[in-house]
Amino acid sequence: MKSTVIGYPYIGPNREWKKTIEAFWSKEISEQQFEAQMKEYRLANIQVQLDAKIDLVTVGDFTYYDRMLDLAAMFGIIPARYKWNSDLVSLETYYAMARGNQSASASEMTKWFNTNYHYIVPEYEGQTLKLLNNKPLRYYLEAKENFNTELKPTIIGPGTFYFLTKEVATLNKPSYLLQLIKVYSQLLSELSAAGAKWIQIEEPILSTSLSKDDMELISEIYEQLNTVNYSSKLLLQTYFESVEWYEELIKLPVEGIGLDFVHGLEENISNIKKIGFPKDKVLAAGIINGRDIWITPLQQSSEMLIELESLVSPNHLWIQPSCSLMHVPVSLTAETKLSKELYENLAFANEKLQELAILKNALTNNRDADQEAFEQNRLTRELLNSSSVRQQGEVQKNIKRLSEIQITRQSSYAIRKDRQQKILQLPDFPTTTIGSFPQTAEVKRNRSQLKKGLIDKEQHDDFIKKEINKWITYQEELELDVLVHGEFERTDMVEYFGEKLVGFAFTEKAWVVSYGSRCVKPPIIYGDVKWEKPMTLDETVYAQSLTTKPVKGMLTGPITILNWSFVRDDVPRSIVAQQIALALRQEIEALETAGIRIIQVDEPALREGLPLKSSKHDAYLDWSVDAFKLATSGVEDETQIHTHMCYCEFNDFIEPIHALDADVISIETSKSHGEIIGAFKNATYTNSIGLGVYDIHSPRIPEIDEMVAVVNDSLEVISPEQCWINPDCGLKTRKTDETLAALEIMVKTAQLLRKRS
Ligand code: GLN
Ligand code: ZN
Repeated sequence: MKSTVIGYPYIGPNREWKKTIEAFWSKEISEQQFEAQMKEYRLANIQVQLDAKIDLVTVGDFTYYDRMLDLAAMFGIIPARYKWNSDLVSLETYYAMARGNQSASASEMTKWFNTNYHYIVPEYEGQTLKLLNNKPLRYYLEAKENFNTELKPTIIGPGTFYFLTKEVATLNKPSYLLQLIKVYSQLLSELSAAGAKWIQIEEPILSTSLSKDDMELISEIYEQLNTVNYSSKLLLQTYFESVEWYEELIKLPVEGIGLDFVHGLEENISNIKKIGFPKDKVLAAGIINGRDIWITPLQQSSEMLIELESLVSPNHLWIQPSCSLMHVPVSLTAETKLSKELYENLAFANEKLQELAILKNALTNNRDADQEAFEQNRLTRELLNSSSVRQQGEVQKNIKRLSEIQITRQSSYAIRKDRQQKILQLPDFPTTTIGSFPQTAEVKRNRSQLKKGLIDKEQHDDFIKKEINKWITYQEELELDVLVHGEFERTDMVEYFGEKLVGFAFTEKAWVVSYGSRCVKPPIIYGDVKWEKPMTLDETVYAQSLTTKPVKGMLTGPITILNWSFVRDDVPRSIVAQQIALALRQEIEALETAGIRIIQVDEPALREGLPLKSSKHDAYLDWSVDAFKLATSGVEDETQIHTHMCYCEFNDFIEPIHALDADVISIETSKSHGEIIGAFKNATYTNSIGLGVYDIHSPRIPEIDEMVAVVNDSLEVISPEQCWINPDCGLKTRKTDETLAALEIMVKTAQLLRKRS
């Protein structure tokens, strides 16, 4: 039995990697210094795996920004707008594709399967593909020179790369595929010639709902690769879910297959039992969760491994985490402030490597010797599971009584709309914003001074009040119809609520990469979630006291809080969602009681949480939509509930949106050029829709005509009575003058529309 990993985090224990990249961008270090430091990190990552006694160390998963971008650059798939015309892709071109430059916009970025990581989407414009640079080979040779150990180079596979490529000009697909097979063949041959015994090919696309034709195409790719002359063995790695086409998969001409026995456990195991696993192939079993931060139940995992061992040929089982460890933080040792109970239940990347070693040892050596470690592991888990943080009597009682709570609004939307309008007296095409206003240097300074103890809570809150005051005045001057307080007290839309709710913990250094060099530090939901006292009342009520116009309360929805956190694994996610929803329901009640008539509950991550397999969508949508409704349905008809979803695609998503039954949903409508709103065509959706009439991600001030055009496009699909006018997202990243200028045009747009109608 061998232990191995699919990939290891590249950001470094202190985000050194990120800092080096950003120092290079701002020209604080030279390209040479940059390369030298990156090499140091690369080698250090290998050393960690060796120190943890991993048998087969993986190389080639390191990147300077993103691994899909690496492939595009390696193959010369470089869009014309970057004006690239040489045989080498410079760092300048590479980063231009990632981030854009003066004359060319960046490539699109999108979610990597069901993770919170985002990759750069390759754009095929009919280029001639060529292997310009064999990155896994370079890293393989570099590692070989420095370490005396067996190394497994890795590469994202041709199937996944093919299906994730965006064809800008819908050009000849077969030709693209043939070219891809050619460059991959060359890449494999070179690795083989350099001495790689095993090469890992990552094909997460196999864990999605592929059609039969798609699967046939992938089989064809591997048949083609098999005709090439190389002696390395191929390990075809899948992860994030079970595989849909198991029978076809095991027939592929590869020597090893990696399956996820954490997220795709039931289907994968039952396929192996039913159909069998080929005697001549290695099974790389992902048994340690690569997506969460909890210690592994060692006893169960080892039992599972014993079972798997009996299903494959002797010495044909490898053990590994379920996916690359890039999705978890690097090391727990940096955390000093967590409770002992919680700390002992956590395992980040390095701790997961240790678990792998324990499991391997237990399975290969004297199994009794590890009984002690297993028993300790069981007790540690048991201690947290039975602790009062996970057994909050009141929360559990409420959850049990959920069936007594009505989660639909009292009346239909048509009736609510009239009742709300009687009170709110809004004009046609009402204007509003999405919640946050610019987080200026002063706003950030105020927060950091409180953290450092340089100012006290009162001074901090006074500053926030001044900001609210200033922005209420601005909004009145702009003649916006529904005002917001501006969210100056918030760092992050999830962290802010997590800090105020019971059941959340925050780490000091548990960063994970979100995209490019950007890292996030997700909260940990480790106990029962409970509302203790109002979280947003002071600021909202204060803002409302300054104006006669309605001020909109601003909350983050239950599913977004859930999906952007690490979540306890002892209860189903749906239960955690219910707990958060109940807490938000109490917050909404408090706001309503205090006279707030409009409350927005943001759910940008609702669609993001969709499972990879379409067969699992309905179950997820059932409980997640119900959680939103549980949070928002307790209000009077007169109280208006808004929700917001950033760049959500609605094409196959109208039904769940309908089911949310929010009075107003604000969406993106400018950048998508009518594509997103188009989904509402022919839909019987009559609730109101906030049109995101301009793109807040750009500093550019849009013209009035552009905004009118966006509304005109939308009016082809929905009726004027449904329309609100707003920016497409929160304004916290913009400058004050940009914000005021853009909003002025936006209000003028609405005024023009009213005159017209
Ligand atoms: N209310 C939040 C804000 O305005 C919404 C952020 C988001 O949609 N990502 O910042
Ligand atoms: Zn948004």
